[in-house]
Amino acid sequence: MIYDVDLETLPREELEALQLKRLKSVCERVYANVPFYRRSFDELGVSPADIRSLKDVSKLPFTKKQDLRDNYPYGMFAVPAENVVRIHASSGTTGKATVVGYTQRDVDNWATLMARCFMCAGATRKDLVHNAYGYGLFTGGLGAHYGAERLGATTIPVSGGATKRQVQLLRDFGATVICSTPSYFLFLLETAEQEGIDFKSLPLRVGIFGAEPWSDEMRREIEERANIKATNVYGLSEVMGPGVSMECLEAQKGMHIFEDHFLPEIIDPETGETLPPGETGELVLTTLTKEAIPLIRYRTRDITSLDYTPCRCGRTHVRMSRIKGRSDDMLIIRGVNVFPSQIESILLETPGLSPHYQIIVNREGNLDVLEVQVEVQEEMHLDEIKRLQSLERNLQKTIKEFLGVTAKIKLVEHQTIERSQGKAKRVVDLRGK
Ligand code: ADP
Ligand code: ZN
Repeated sequence: MIYDVDLETLPREELEALQLKRLKSVCERVYANVPFYRRSFDELGVSPADIRSLKDVSKLPFTKKQDLRDNYPYGMFAVPAENVVRIHASSGTTGKATVVGYTQRDVDNWATLMARCFMCAGATRKDLVHNAYGYGLFTGGLGAHYGAERLGATTIPVSGGATKRQVQLLRDFGATVICSTPSYFLFLLETAEQEGIDFKSLPLRVGIFGAEPWSDEMRREIEERANIKATNVYGLSEVMGPGVSMECLEAQKGMHIFEDHFLPEIIDPETGETLPPGETGELVLTTLTKEAIPLIRYRTRDITSLDYTPCRCGRTHVRMSRIKGRSDDMLIIRGVNVFPSQIESILLETPGLSPHYQIIVNREGNLDVLEVQVEVQEEMHLDEIKRLQSLERNLQKTIKEFLGVTAKIKLVEHQTIERSQGKAKRVVDLRGK
């Protein structure tokens, strides 16, 4: 089922006409109201009138996270303060958090886009939504909350934390849909197992997981252990929050970017050059309808690719592939580029290991050293030395073979790696400390 059939299945030509109209309008608005944009347009010698086709977007200046930081807190706002009805902030995963604001219309659009996401995952107004995204400044909680209500589903605003209680609520209230980070869902699953609650026997049917990178192997692990469908939702606070794009249940192959609201591009993160459809690079988004903080060519630093081929669900909006990682999470180990998600895929394909891991990067002398700490499955005992040694060796070999780097492997006991309540911290970088 499709929440907004008219807009989500618009033929490409009509979709592009709508995008162009909106792109012109957003350029005019930021040029008139945001000194930062007036300056950066002027520096490049472009004006809103230069936008005659969608391709002209490449003439426009980029916006970087640092620009939002430099204009902290309200410098990027394009509307008078009294029109702002909500403030959020990014999680600050990679540094100082950025502040974002919403007009009433922004909040409304966001709710509608999240409602689209729920329907992409097969949810309807008959569903009960257990929302374990954190409430507060983080956009996840309220974003999903308003979307579930807009859909007409029953919304249970649980937020993150109090994990044992959450497991009981899931059993007692009989939620059919859950929203959380994939790593927090794993924690819930594990806690349920300890409490003797079998997720497989609950009415829970589908998870809407996002806010952090996760792999296809992690999806399989979750789907099998909980007997649910695990879907992928993407968003970032600067651009709106969750609901920028969402995977459809019909295909489970890439997330539809809601193109009537966002104009995507893929660029080479080094040169800034636009890449042809299908190539992997950094996702750049221009907001087409946002009022409080419209962003022109925002560099998300998330690495993905775009697929314009038709989707079997009937939606015409382009699909982005699962995020490989953030460009700033990419580890460069002795000259080789590695994303944590690639290591995750290998760990989850290795029998005997659990999905709980951490990657530690350090420097010995002038050399980067990569250590992967991973918990063995509960059934395995650390005294089975021989078996463990061969597991370590094989894992090291596979990582070397697939990723081209040598990793030190440290198998650790069940429950030693900290569980996440929200976004998991996969990488500990001790270099330069
Ligand atoms: P922060 O950038 O401080 O973490 P946000 O809470 O706004 O702040 O998080 C947005 C970021 O979370 C995205 O830029 C992306 O890196 C990550 N993210 C969100 N959804 C997904 C997803 N489905 N897969 C991978 N990464 C995601
Ligand atoms: Zn689809």
